Amino acid sequence: MITGTTKLLGVIGHPVEHSLSPLMHNAAIAQIGVDYVYLPLPIAPQNLEDAIRGFAAIGITGFSVTIPHKQAIMPLMSEISSLAEAVGAVNTVFRQDNRWVGTNTDVEGFIAPLRSTYNRDWSQTTAVILGNGGAARAVVAGCSQLGCAEIHVVGRNLQKLAAFRDSWANSPLANNLQVHHWELLPKLLPNADLLVNTTPIGMYPHTQASPLSQEEIENLNPNSPIVYDLIYTPNPTKFLQQAQKVGATTIDGLEMLVQQGAAALKIWLARDTVPVDVMRQVLRRHLGL
Ligand code: NAP
Repeated sequence: MITGTTKLLGVIGHPVEHSLSPLMHNAAIAQIGVDYVYLPLPIAPQNLEDAIRGFAAIGITGFSVTIPHKQAIMPLMSEISSLAEAVGAVNTVFRQDNRWVGTNTDVEGFIAPLRSTYNRDWSQTTAVILGNGGAARAVVAGCSQLGCAEIHVVGRNLQKLAAFRDSWANSPLANNLQVHHWELLPKLLPNADLLVNTTPIGMYPHTQASPLSQEEIENLNPNSPIVYDLIYTPNPTKFLQQAQKVGATTIDGLEMLVQQGAAALKIWLARDTVPVDVMRQVLRRHLGL
């Protein structure tokens, strides 16, 4: 129930209508029984600065940040966590001592299903990451936090790949990072223990597309690699179906979405736990899973 004392959370983006975050967060808020509401807050890029000032004026507790604001918001923060600094993107903002603090929970969201599903030492792991966009940055940081021995990022544009590599030059997070043109994939796949798709290839409505051909998939490491797709619609993607057929274990993008949200909600509500099951369940139902 919204009352005169209800506190405000939300997600800023442009567009933001497609966001599943309001559904997920309001389900958790209702379950906990706290006096908060989480709203979609459509903000065009030219209005970002005004919006942040307005949020301070009306005392918003915190908010999620999605495309296209994840980088643009950084100079508007009073403080940025070292992780968000290293990733180069903020996806969660909270208020502390009347100042805006930006952090990044995508890394925690990415790692969570790997840690909960596989109780293993990652120090011998070779990770191969498809794509070099925003999500790939959180995945590189995540693989580095896990302690992966080698992190290979594969992309289609050599200039963007070089810029991606150079952007990590001063970061301890990525000392095992190498970048490669897509043509090199056949050489990398047989050694990949963890293969992550961070491209949108295969995302609804292009459900018959996959970042890898059948031949490439058959060339995967025969020792049951983990294949992880950040996409959550469709579920599973064609890429994950191909991987399952050759004996790989698979992870879809839904758990990352849930866990990055749960990590943000813990920050805003200053709680050690939030009802992750409720958040997952409401999304699964919404997506017809
Ligand atoms: P982005 O910044 O636009 O990056 C997309 C990357 O994919 C770029 O490197 C792009 O290459 C590459 N790419 C696109 N089409 C390609 C193609 N046909 N062949 C080869 N490479 C291609 O997007 P993003 O924010 O990283 O998001 C990527 C995906 O991750 C989306 O599907 C998004 O929904 C998903 N995601 C999921 C979660 C989650 O919580 N599960 C979180 C974040 C993102 P160029 O640089 O050469 O253009």
